[in-house]
Amino acid sequence: MEHNVIIIGSGPAGYTAAIYLGRAGLNPVLVTGALAPGGQLVNTTEVENFPGFPDGIMGPDLMDRMRDQAEKFGTQFIADDVESVEQVEAADAADAPQPLYRLSLSDGSVLESRAIIVATGSNFRKLGVPGERELSGHGVSYCATCDGFFFKDKPIVVVGGGDSAFEEALFLTRFGSSVTLIHRRDSFRASQIMVDRAQSNPKLTLLTNTVVTAIHGSASEAKPASPAITIGGLKLPAATAPQNVSSIDIRNTATGETGTLDTSAVFVAIGHTPATEFIADVVSTDDDGYITVAEAGTHTSAPGVFAAGDCVDRTYRQAISAAGMGCRAALDAQQYLTA
Ligand SMILES: Cc1cc2nc3c(=O)[nH]c(=O)nc-3n(C[C@H](O)[C@H](O)[C@H](O)COP(=O)(O)OP(=O)(O)OC[C@H]3O[C@@H](n4cnc5c(N)ncnc54)[C@H](O)[C@@H]3O)c2cc1C
Repeated sequence: MEHNVIIIGSGPAGYTAAIYLGRAGLNPVLVTGALAPGGQLVNTTEVENFPGFPDGIMGPDLMDRMRDQAEKFGTQFIADDVESVEQVEAADAADAPQPLYRLSLSDGSVLESRAIIVATGSNFRKLGVPGERELSGHGVSYCATCDGFFFKDKPIVVVGGGDSAFEEALFLTRFGSSVTLIHRRDSFRASQIMVDRAQSNPKLTLLTNTVVTAIHGSASEAKPASPAITIGGLKLPAATAPQNVSSIDIRNTATGETGTLDTSAVFVAIGHTPATEFIADVVSTDDDGYITVAEAGTHTSAPGVFAAGDCVDRTYRQAISAAGMGCRAALDAQQYLTA
């Protein structure tokens, strides 16, 4: 069956595009992704910088609301991954002025459409050390803009050696009592100006030839553990106090020396990988796999294929900027389909 428009990805960019296209009467189909419907924000706790929520909102709740809003305007959801996209029919000036695309999903089914919005986000690279997954959202973070505010007057560690790591570390000196940037090599990939700025910042310490080997947590003081209790005949199990980051284990890669460093937060800034491999044969990407779009727009190199959010944007990487780009992609697709 041929659809008007298919959106790939269910983060803020994809859901926003669906809301606009649904309200435009175009009956969008949204392929959510099989493993992470709702996108990156379902992995976080409180979101304090999305406009409209003065008291903050939990990431999964925000994404549920976006989904509900998209559903209200008629979006059809498919909980699967798109494995590949191909153009199956070229544009024909007479009958079909736009090319037709076929999307193959992981379950073997296929979908066809003349317009596609790619909103598949990016995956941050992880350290892969013990404690990282368990303490994610409780001191382990991948976004200084999002979470720096939570660590006022606390010691902070940043891991990475590129410009983003330095930018994050310098930004975090506004909040933390100290910031230690840890890098596994003896020199940095970051530009010299960033390194100079970091070296002249009294709050920032640079630790080279060092790797993090484990992240440890301690029970949160704010929410202490409670024993098992019975209320109105209902047995509630003992609650374990949530763990927050308390320290990390480190190892010097040159000498092999090991040690422990106390910290309240670990910001991992070792890069992102845009989720675009499945469509790299159809649209142009840059060397790192980010989809390239026409300046100020969302048009990719393939007619009828638009892209929005973190799979395009290596700079801003915020929920609100992804949502804004999802809106633009929807309006671009709508104009393309109705031209
Ligand atoms: C831990 C954490 C905390 C954050 N906190 C904040 C915050 O407080 N405030 C803020 O503004 N931003 C925050 N961010 C950043 C924000 O989450 C991202 O900028 C935003 O989610 C990007 O939206 P997106 O729609 O481009 O992509 P994503 O949210 O990454 O969504 C992409 C979607 O595409 C799907 N997908 C991928 N490949 C395929 C495929 N082949 N087929 C089908 N589906 C596919 C995925 O499953 C996912 O659902 C945080 C990020 C992280 C990781």
